[in-house]
Amino acid sequence: MSPAGYTGRFAPTPSGSLHFGSIVTALGSYLQARKQKGKWLIRMEDIDEPRTRPGTDKIILKQLECLGLLWDGEIVYQSQRTPLYRSAFEYLNSLGLIFRCTCTRKEIANRPYPGTCRHGVADVTTGYSMRIKTNDDDIACDDVLQGKFVQSIASEVGDFIIKRADGLFAYHLAVTVDDAEQGINEIVRGADLLDSTPRQIYLQTLLGYNLPGYLHLPVAINNDGNKISKRSHAAAIDHDNPSQVIFEALDFLGHAPPYEAMNADIESLLDWAVKNWDLNTLPKQTQIKINHGSQNDAI
Ligand SMILES: [Zn+2]
Repeated sequence: MSPAGYTGRFAPTPSGSLHFGSIVTALGSYLQARKQKGKWLIRMEDIDEPRTRPGTDKIILKQLECLGLLWDGEIVYQSQRTPLYRSAFEYLNSLGLIFRCTCTRKEIANRPYPGTCRHGVADVTTGYSMRIKTNDDDIACDDVLQGKFVQSIASEVGDFIIKRADGLFAYHLAVTVDDAEQGINEIVRGADLLDSTPRQIYLQTLLGYNLPGYLHLPVAINNDGNKISKRSHAAAIDHDNPSQVIFEALDFLGHAPPYEAMNADIESLLDWAVKNWDLNTLPKQTQIKINHGSQNDAI
């Protein structure tokens, strides 16, 4: 940990209100930060403007307040940070690692990217994305919960997109720049992002950033085996009973409070959770099915 202390974050995409799965991630990152008397920052990942819905950021912040998950500092919006991403992009370009790619989605439907445009493209008058060259090195993520996750980006993913054909900087670049710029020293998020972590570590290394720690929490899946998401129309949270929501999220994370706590106010429940937060108690799976109706329907 840096001398400045622990800094964690929760980084929702404002494309819909928080659902049970995103609350689990918010709570896990909050407790991990508070247990270490660290800072907990919120970043709105609204870089992909076509996916965001105006006003959703306010709804998410209201939900977090209602759940007692109070953050530190100003809210950061990716949509306002293009100059930071551009300067990182230009630095990577100066290393000779960026190239134009004119492949269509259909041509590169499967991973890894075959390197079609790596050595130059003849026609760049049409739309093109910008990719970064990768290499054969194995990149390891030492996750405090999931253990060691190793990936060769070159053979498993291939050269990946840094700037999209529509001109927006890609998610991996934005996240990497933001985490470094915000001084995040441990990233707590859903295990569905474990696969993308080596790409972010690759960028951190190239950009000369300090490498953060990682904690990938289990992801809540529904009976069909799909991640509970905004797209799967997960119902919105019941604002009338925030303690129940926190109780169930704690239970999911292996930290079921004593039954009497069910009726406790939200502050007491979170105090209990901070005191009792223990990585050894967290379930190590990458996915957990939630099948009792209360989590699917009432939250
Ligand atoms: Zn290409």
